Amino acid sequence: MADGLPEPVLEVLPTDLTPYKAGNTGIDYVHTFDSGRSGPHLVVNALMHGNEFCGMTAVTRLLDLEIRPLHGKLTLSFANVAAYNRFDPENPFGSRQIDRDMNRVWDADTLANDTESHEAARAREMLPVFKAADGLLDIHSTSNPVHPMLCYTWLPKSRDLAEHIGYPLHHIVSSERLHQGPMLFEYDGFSDRNRPATAILVECGQHFARKSGDVALFTALKFLDYYEVLDKEFVARNMPDVAASEPPTVYLASEVVSAKTAEFRYVHPLLGFEEFAQGDLVARDGDEEIRAPYDRCTVIMPRRQPVQGGEVVTLAQRLT
Ligand SMILES: [Zn+2]
Repeated sequence: MADGLPEPVLEVLPTDLTPYKAGNTGIDYVHTFDSGRSGPHLVVNALMHGNEFCGMTAVTRLLDLEIRPLHGKLTLSFANVAAYNRFDPENPFGSRQIDRDMNRVWDADTLANDTESHEAARAREMLPVFKAADGLLDIHSTSNPVHPMLCYTWLPKSRDLAEHIGYPLHHIVSSERLHQGPMLFEYDGFSDRNRPATAILVECGQHFARKSGDVALFTALKFLDYYEVLDKEFVARNMPDVAASEPPTVYLASEVVSAKTAEFRYVHPLLGFEEFAQGDLVARDGDEEIRAPYDRCTVIMPRRQPVQGGEVVTLAQRLT
């Protein structure tokens, strides 16, 4: 491939989601189950990006298992099915989105001002679900085959949830918004330390790897278990065997680098989690050098083929 990285193996391909379209909420591909008892409203969301199949694997599995909460409400959703339906095995990275990145639209201004894109329209349609969530798990995957990771705002409520989930072992935390647009886990009360609603994003591994689906299902069950809304036997019976017992490695994200020119080049092909010492050259962007601003500077999710004006890579300092 032109970026010097291997072509992905397509172990998982899309399945037909039409049977899951009608749902029971009036919003396509959104299913809510109400226990009839008081308790949190929890949301597990898949397919924010159309070619990230692990969330589809986990959420279809939970629906097929007829999962039901013992307390509160549970919503299972597929976000960008229109992009998912465009998957082309000849161009597996091409169906992330239709018009724009759906995980960069999550604030009131963006949602109100973007009247053109498919993603903003779908986000507005789904917003009542996410606004009502006391807990949210947003399931994603990565272009490159790297370790799974949890991404969240560096607040005690999200840290508690992440530590309970216990795997993946890489935690990417941020103390402010760094991307070109706000992500769902940063939306409104999720980023407010004085409000209880909590959101976390999981990157389960490579988009098309079978194991990523196991990581997604594991994370979803552990997320729901944190709130003690599931029958313990149901959790034990369906929990994939991916857990590890080591403590997580925590990375504090400081910057999301965007490509200013069409000549953005990494110093060598990067998969993700490569570490640089302070001052080391990471990339060149035309005439500009991108150097590591501190020691233990780790590159997170480098884009395979940088696009001028687009986000390329997150820089984060390894804290542990
Ligand atoms: Zn994603």
